Amino acid sequence: MRVCVMGAGIGGLATAHKLAGMGHKVRIVERNPEVGGVARSKYTTDGEHSEYCWHVFMKGYTSLLPLLQEIPFKGSTVADQLKPITQYGYGREGQHYLVEHGSCFLGSHSVIQLQSQAKNLGYNFSYRDKWKIALLYLFVHGSHPERFESYDSVLWSDLMGSLTPDLKKMVIDSCGIYLGMEPDRLNSHTMLHLLRKSNTVHSVCDKHRQNDGNIPLCYSLNGPTNEQWMEPWTQLLAEQGVEISLNTQIQEIRCEKGQVKEIVISHGEEQQNLQYDYYVNSLDVFSFGRLLYGVDSLKYEMAELSRRSYQIQPQVTFRLHEKVYFQEPSILMHLDTPWVIMWRPEGPLWDVPLGKGKSQPGELLSAGIGVWHRKGVLYDKPAHECTEQEIVDEVWHQMKMSPGLMKLFKTDTGKTLDDVKYSSYNIWHSFSFDSERGRLDTWEPKFSNNVGTVALRPTTCDPTLSNLIHANAYTRTDNNLYNMDSAAEAGIRAANFIDSREAKPDCKKYVPARKVWSFFQHIDRILLNKKVSNPIELMLNKNTQFN
Ligand SMILES: Cc1cc2nc3c(=O)[nH]c(=O)nc-3n(C[C@H](O)[C@H](O)[C@H](O)COP(=O)(O)OP(=O)(O)OC[C@H]3O[C@@H](n4cnc5c(N)ncnc54)[C@H](O)[C@@H]3O)c2cc1C
Repeated sequence: MRVCVMGAGIGGLATAHKLAGMGHKVRIVERNPEVGGVARSKYTTDGEHSEYCWHVFMKGYTSLLPLLQEIPFKGSTVADQLKPITQYGYGREGQHYLVEHGSCFLGSHSVIQLQSQAKNLGYNFSYRDKWKIALLYLFVHGSHPERFESYDSVLWSDLMGSLTPDLKKMVIDSCGIYLGMEPDRLNSHTMLHLLRKSNTVHSVCDKHRQNDGNIPLCYSLNGPTNEQWMEPWTQLLAEQGVEISLNTQIQEIRCEKGQVKEIVISHGEEQQNLQYDYYVNSLDVFSFGRLLYGVDSLKYEMAELSRRSYQIQPQVTFRLHEKVYFQEPSILMHLDTPWVIMWRPEGPLWDVPLGKGKSQPGELLSAGIGVWHRKGVLYDKPAHECTEQEIVDEVWHQMKMSPGLMKLFKTDTGKTLDDVKYSSYNIWHSFSFDSERGRLDTWEPKFSNNVGTVALRPTTCDPTLSNLIHANAYTRTDNNLYNMDSAAEAGIRAANFIDSREAKPDCKKYVPARKVWSFFQHIDRILLNKKVSNPIELMLNKNTQFN
């Protein structure tokens, strides 16, 4: 088959990788000068590095991790470049706590573990809270996962409504930042699936198993994403005969009689019409809908999905002169700051120099802003109404509001992080402040798992266009999340479909339940077929204060 893959994010690259291995002729069309989509990295003209995506790889990434094992890199593979992160630091009201197991707070192995972790940060559980959390765990594990479908329209903050306000804020904020989302817009569908899968471990991670049997919380690459992942991947694809057209913009996707007829592309001044057997949509949802012509229903659905999922979320990279030490590679979450900032010191993770400029930074600190609509403390404005400089001042100021977490930092000059100044910073280049509208904007927004987004996600094969296949992180997959693993899973599905025309059945390959739960799930499947709620669901909903 002759296949045109539109977009060179992880979804597009995964599709091309698999299709080329199956012997198909593939061309990728990408508007940027480099591959990787929102997961790519970038150097400024001064040789300073920055990333957009937080590139946290979870231990349960069952599609992406095996794919990374297939990409050769310096005598090993890209999978071997992953560095384990063994702890998350949470800071609150002058205290800090290191979480060593469990994903977000609720992803802890048990309710008891969750309570003891939260207690260390000074949270108290009332009996009502304990009952609520216990019901939630019972619902997550004892219900059939198909039951979670109807929770797409339920806000996670509403489902957690009856918790005491302090604890509720922690549960909502820690889940939001963990998923890189505005916590108050997160849908319950995503969280229920995430909690169900929180203990999944792919065998690639087995070599990191510690003596007590535990696996690191997550992984990160040991250098810039482009150097450690995207460049070796591009080289492999070229060797497999994949044609990659960079700096090439898709202008139109023309559809006629239930098919994509052709696409119009431009490269500089030159314009061309391309015809292929199959067209793979690996574009971001915001671009895809705009480019469609001749198929109104899909265009409107994508416009609605774009509207519901649009999220502004740049991260700031600070460069410090001093070298900063941490007990271990960590991700640090400031739960007590208005913007709920997540910090990632790159120094302990990287095996390559921290910059390409004349002066080498001692440390690169990446800050991800979790909450965009709550007002900050310095300028009394939410992040999306701040200028670039105001964001930077605010983020730096908020970091110092968490003295507990600051205690984890040590510098080589004996200073505390309180006394350290950053030498330079940058915000991801596709963001700029629109002074007319008085707000930050971007030509590269982030998709977000907000309420009402799951129902609109396209499936691998498009029902309206027979030669259009979807392969990106917002396509429906078994994964049910927007992340790098979903993009890889969607790419593998797309390639399998084009090669054999046999799509996997509709995204219902759920992570198997532990033996003790499978009986309850089986019963629940019967109740679900009869359209009846299960008793735990009834109790959970009774206990919930919906707004
Ligand atoms: C701030 C942030 C933090 C994140 N953190 C994590 C994390 O820690 N862990 C994790 O697993 N995931 C994370 N993600 C999510 C993850 O990065 C994405 O889900 C994944 O990279 C998306 O891949 P994709 O292939 O679907 O799409 P994209 O990466 O969006 O790729 C789409 C491609 O299409 C191209 N394109 C668009 N329009 C055109 C056009 N007209 N012509 C030609 N090409 C075009 C774009 O340039 C782009 O290359 C994060 C994302 C963001 C933004």
